[in-house]
Amino acid sequence: MIRFLGVIAALMVVCLISSAAARAADPRPNIIFIFSDDQAYQAIGAYGYPVGKIAPTPNFDRIAKDGMLFRECYVTNSLCGPMRAVIQTGKYSHINGFVRNGNKFNGDQQTFPKLLQAAGYQTAVIGKWHLGEHQAPQGYNYSEVLVGQGPYYNPPMLRDATGTGDIKQVEKIKHEGYTTEIIGDLTLKWLKEGRDPNKPFMLMAQHKAPHRNWQPAPKYLHLFDDVTIPEPPTLFDDYAGRPDAVKNQDMMIKKTMNAADLKLTAPGNLTPEQRATWDAAYNPKNEAFKKANLEGDDLIRWKYQRYMKDYLRCVRSVDDEIGRLLDYLDESGLAKNTVVIYCSDQGFYLGEHGWFDKRWIYEESLRTPLMVRWPGVVKPGSENHDIVSSLDLAETFLDIAGVKVPDDMQGKSLVPILKGKTPEDWRKSFYYHYYEFPGAHSVHKHEGVVDGRYKLIHFYTDDQWELIDLKENPLETKNFIDDPAHADVKARLMSELDRLRDQLKVTDEDPEGTGGPKKNKKK
Ligand code: CA
Repeated sequence: MIRFLGVIAALMVVCLISSAAARAADPRPNIIFIFSDDQAYQAIGAYGYPVGKIAPTPNFDRIAKDGMLFRECYVTNSLCGPMRAVIQTGKYSHINGFVRNGNKFNGDQQTFPKLLQAAGYQTAVIGKWHLGEHQAPQGYNYSEVLVGQGPYYNPPMLRDATGTGDIKQVEKIKHEGYTTEIIGDLTLKWLKEGRDPNKPFMLMAQHKAPHRNWQPAPKYLHLFDDVTIPEPPTLFDDYAGRPDAVKNQDMMIKKTMNAADLKLTAPGNLTPEQRATWDAAYNPKNEAFKKANLEGDDLIRWKYQRYMKDYLRCVRSVDDEIGRLLDYLDESGLAKNTVVIYCSDQGFYLGEHGWFDKRWIYEESLRTPLMVRWPGVVKPGSENHDIVSSLDLAETFLDIAGVKVPDDMQGKSLVPILKGKTPEDWRKSFYYHYYEFPGAHSVHKHEGVVDGRYKLIHFYTDDQWELIDLKENPLETKNFIDDPAHADVKARLMSELDRLRDQLKVTDEDPEGTGGPKKNKKK
């Protein structure tokens, strides 16, 4: 027996040595991608906006403090599912085939996790997937994902521990608790117990929060009760002089928010204990609201406060989970060889133009927060103003891992920028295309080109054009398309739009077959 134990001990020593040797021989960095859904950059402290000052995000800010914060990270199509498909493939919606929510992602196509796996990386995705349940996520050794959007409380999740991506291998797991915390727990569990410590890894920790309809954790139901959230200057925008699409949308705090959004009704899936905590928090506030009998602008102001406080409470839970994850990286020693990337699937309106939701090429939904921490490579506390995109993430992940980026990906690796040197030929303009109409919130289809100051936008089903000048009108309340002083800019952007469409292989056919933009149809 003693001899047997001796052999076991010797074997363990051999294993430890070979594991250390394997690690030493494979110095490639780990990558953790922290993703959340509908996270407005205006609500991240590090970006410096008024809301972020009222509702601090110390853990988001740690990533910026230790790394690089990107000010001009644009999305290609400001919507949940489509941007996830863009990140998986490094390709625009019209190429990867996922143009609007409700499409089913073709997981058989080339994706970055498959390429990382082939190069010896271990891959995992935990949390919100939202690319369809017709198949398990492909290219991942481990996945545990929400069903569709997933609820804020007590989420069923789909686990594929086989790494096959085979839908028949998926187990449905019932979780009880608050979804943001559960995703945080599962992320840590995989890091501690789930992975092969001898391989570099790519882990995607993907929160559903703070997506509509902003249900806070029990512990934060009273956070911000005594605070007034500052209003954006365009909360009462009248859309004068703007395209019909802007006037005809259905995403206004004033008219679109429903009783569930405003917490005048409770969620239907709470446990009795959760429900009691919920009611104790909201019932007195709702009674006071009913008694006040608000009307007009006062009612809009009340809805705005209710919306923002719930949104920011949800953000606080995400911030907590980022903190727990970063703490674990420090404690375990993983931090020094792990690149941490935070991004959202798009930005979000926090009352600007009277709106919530996203979809538009306008600033709050075109831009998405992006921060990257890479010890020893990225200069701590740096800021970047180049036009980058979540289209670039797949390429960046591959480049970080030293894997060749395929020629058919349409973004560019951010690694040179992370190393402090923007390539000479870096993009100076960017193509955008939103497709989901008819659809939720009634935002008309549009495409456009953006160069950091100007935006040329074509609402092609209305055949209406808009020209935005962020320097002259940063709030985007004026259309300069017929302004003679902007005629040269308009002409330049018209041809730039054509050039980008050619370069990115945008065809006149809409991928949905409902009437795409006519390339040469000029105003
Ligand atoms: Ca989203």
